[in-house]
Amino acid sequence: MSAVFPGRSLKHQAGLIKKSKIYGLIVTLCLIASSRLSLSIEPIAASNTSVLVLHSYHHGFTWTDNISDGIMEVFNDKMPELELRFEFLDTRRIYTEAYFKQLQSLFRQKYENVDIDVIICTDDQALLFMLQYGETIFKNIPVVFCSVSGFQPGMRKGRQLTGLRESIDIKATLDIALKLNPGTKNVAVITDMTQTGRALKKNAQKIFDEYQKRLTFIYFEDLLVEDLQLKIAQLPENSIVFLFIFSKDKSGRVFSHEQNLKRLSRYCKVPIYAVWEFYLGYGIVGGKLTNGTMEGRMVAEMALRILKGEKASNIALDESPTLYMFDRQQLQRFSIDETLLPEGSIIINRRISFFREYRIWIWGIFLFLLLETILIINLYLGRLQRQKTLKALRQSEEKYRNIFENIRDMYYESNLEGTILEISPSIEEYSLYKRDELVGRRLTDFYVDPSQRPLFLKILQEKGSVNDYEVLLKDKDGTFHNFVINAALIHTEPESSPKIIGSIRDITESKKLEEQLQQAQKMESIGTLAGGIAHDFNNLLTAIIGGAELVISKTSKKDPNFHLIQEIKEAGVRAADLTKQLLAFSRRQVLKAEPQNINHIVENLEKMLKRVIRENIEFISDLSAKELMVMADVVQLEQVLINLAINASDAMPGGGKFIIKTEAFEYDPEVQEALPHLQAGKYVLVSVSDTGKGMDQKTIDKIFEPFFTTKEQGKGTGLGLAMVYGIIKQHKGYILVDSEVGTGTRFDIYLPQSENLPEQPGESRHITKSGKGGQTILIVEDDPAVQALLSKLLIEGGYKVLKTGDVYEAIDLTQKNSSSIDLLITDVVMPHMNGRELHKKITAICPEIKVLFMSGYSDNVISHDGVIDQGIQFIQKPFEMKLLLGKIREILD
Ligand code: ADP
Ligand code: MG
Repeated sequence: MSAVFPGRSLKHQAGLIKKSKIYGLIVTLCLIASSRLSLSIEPIAASNTSVLVLHSYHHGFTWTDNISDGIMEVFNDKMPELELRFEFLDTRRIYTEAYFKQLQSLFRQKYENVDIDVIICTDDQALLFMLQYGETIFKNIPVVFCSVSGFQPGMRKGRQLTGLRESIDIKATLDIALKLNPGTKNVAVITDMTQTGRALKKNAQKIFDEYQKRLTFIYFEDLLVEDLQLKIAQLPENSIVFLFIFSKDKSGRVFSHEQNLKRLSRYCKVPIYAVWEFYLGYGIVGGKLTNGTMEGRMVAEMALRILKGEKASNIALDESPTLYMFDRQQLQRFSIDETLLPEGSIIINRRISFFREYRIWIWGIFLFLLLETILIINLYLGRLQRQKTLKALRQSEEKYRNIFENIRDMYYESNLEGTILEISPSIEEYSLYKRDELVGRRLTDFYVDPSQRPLFLKILQEKGSVNDYEVLLKDKDGTFHNFVINAALIHTEPESSPKIIGSIRDITESKKLEEQLQQAQKMESIGTLAGGIAHDFNNLLTAIIGGAELVISKTSKKDPNFHLIQEIKEAGVRAADLTKQLLAFSRRQVLKAEPQNINHIVENLEKMLKRVIRENIEFISDLSAKELMVMADVVQLEQVLINLAINASDAMPGGGKFIIKTEAFEYDPEVQEALPHLQAGKYVLVSVSDTGKGMDQKTIDKIFEPFFTTKEQGKGTGLGLAMVYGIIKQHKGYILVDSEVGTGTRFDIYLPQSENLPEQPGESRHITKSGKGGQTILIVEDDPAVQALLSKLLIEGGYKVLKTGDVYEAIDLTQKNSSSIDLLITDVVMPHMNGRELHKKITAICPEIKVLFMSGYSDNVISHDGVIDQGIQFIQKPFEMKLLLGKIREILD
């Protein structure tokens, strides 16, 4: 380049350096790294080849530096051992004859004893210096030049000289400018009045001649910068600018290329083209540009050839290389289609942003950071979620533990094979097994009937759960327990086999209670039925027995019918006995409860009992020394003991012992074994036992049922124990049986102890003679047969009788005969009014009147729960005539 260059811009250099700085940094780091690896520094082989580069301008001048770069590139690559020297003539700053002379003597001194093999001169001034003074300094050393515009062919004569003539491709640049901007009509050519500027214009004008027809060329030369800007700004749309050089304006001001171009570009609304590479990146679109680095490379290649032995004079001259180069930013600014650019064009954008330059890295880093962030957020959320889940899990586990530890029901987990995995501690309440003894064992080991297990599993697998499945399980000691299982199939983990989770409840007790309740209900209904029958029977039997007795009293013993009638009466009495038992069982019997010492009852009955049991049976009474008072109907309790004695006797055909034991007993359910039907309190316990054949459980379960008998026909009625049961119940007591086949049987009778009240004299069963005295008796009885019989009996007995079946008529009769009626005999259960109410009404009319109630069974009219109220006279149907007459006398006397 031969132009006179204005001051170079530091910015330009900075722009170039930016990129290389980063590479440099990497290289430096690599060098540091590698130097660390190889601690010893390799000795550099002494070189006897050296090349001197003689630059016209100064170090730091972009153009010059670019050429240096090109030269070094080649030598470093192909001849690294070469000694490369640089000299800068600095002619941009000083360029005088005197200066050159000074340089000559300086270089002579400097290079006197230095062997230089090739000298490279860049730009015109250096070559001129060489031509002028070179011989005196270096002595016939081959010279290669570049970027020389003022080369004359004569210069080679007698010299070892070759090189590159400077060429700038104005035509190619204009052509491409026109191609990229097809509508161009005007070309504004900017140049200055420097030597270079003028030379360029001269050159250009020759080329532009060809285009005169279609283009108008405007020359902006020798202008003030301000004017140039104005003109540029006013260019019509179909214009382009061709920038040659503008480094000095009309007023002599000097500008840097970059400074100037940047300013112009800002004002210019049309594309600018140029021929120098150093303009690229500061506002030109591009062009076919002369390139310093390439020129440096080429000139170095030429020098290499010389070093290898070729003669410089034999190497053909060449021209500076030019390259199509463009600035993307400007292309985009003017919407120029990049595809129109010639093949091999270099597209740059020196203002490329850091982001653009490293966008792959930046994107990579950004994506990496983004991923990292997402990952971290994800992990954090996951952690939160996990903490939440863990908390919920802990809570649920705690809750579950609580339930599990405290549940009254037993809870268990097992696998499908039936191995117990877990069982709640509550098992120990129900079973003799300890929790630890059960875990790991198989459920089937405990089944009384192992075939129940497959059925259980079948239901479980079909329905997923089993509800209220009853099983009989064995305990450690072999006892059976009724359990009810509720279980479900649970899949806890996807891969593992399902688990069975369930609860087991021991229902043995409730099952027993349920059975007992059923039994009690059965007894109750049988009792109601029996009571109803007995009531009707009693009226019939009253008539039969009474009728028979009446006939007997009128019949002579010699009469052939006498025995017949007597048998009728006896059959009636036996029937009455049965009815009585039924009534006793159904607790419809009227009790006459009085304070009694149980020991006395037993003692008084001893004779009778001995007669009941066979002679080969030993009777043992083991009576408490204490007085054991109970509220009891003596007759009823005697019935109980007699019945038990008969049964015991039947159970000991080969003889044995019959024992009655009495004792005081205080029941405290917290201390004693549970007696479910007994309330806490003081009792008298009468145990009646035998050493007979005993009973099995099946029999025991049924003995209190009426008509249950194991005895052969005619021998047993099955009513004995039913009656016993009823009587004891009616006494608010309880009877328990304990029996073992082959050993014997024991009945325990618990009767509530009463306060130690003085014992009342037992009912006199002496039958008094019927009274005479013509007293009047009013009979109220709705059963006509009983009524008729009664009246007949009483008339026969010497009484006056008023009778009626209607309560109102009875009141009527009383009013009419108020002064004469001594006794009222009334049925208890009658239509409209009960016996007690009637008695009340009649007493109102006739206060002196006495009363005798009759009834076939108990109701709450004259008694409470079968126990007759104090002071009331009562006779149970059916009755024998003698008993009735005796009772009447008792009352009237
Ligand atoms: P019955 O004596 O008419 O058969 P019970 O009601 O008195 O009717 O007795 C019912 C059944 O109870 C008897 O048939 C007998 O099997 C059984 N039983 C009662 N007491 C005893 C006893 N002491 N020993 C053995 N079995 C008895
Ligand atoms: Mg019996």
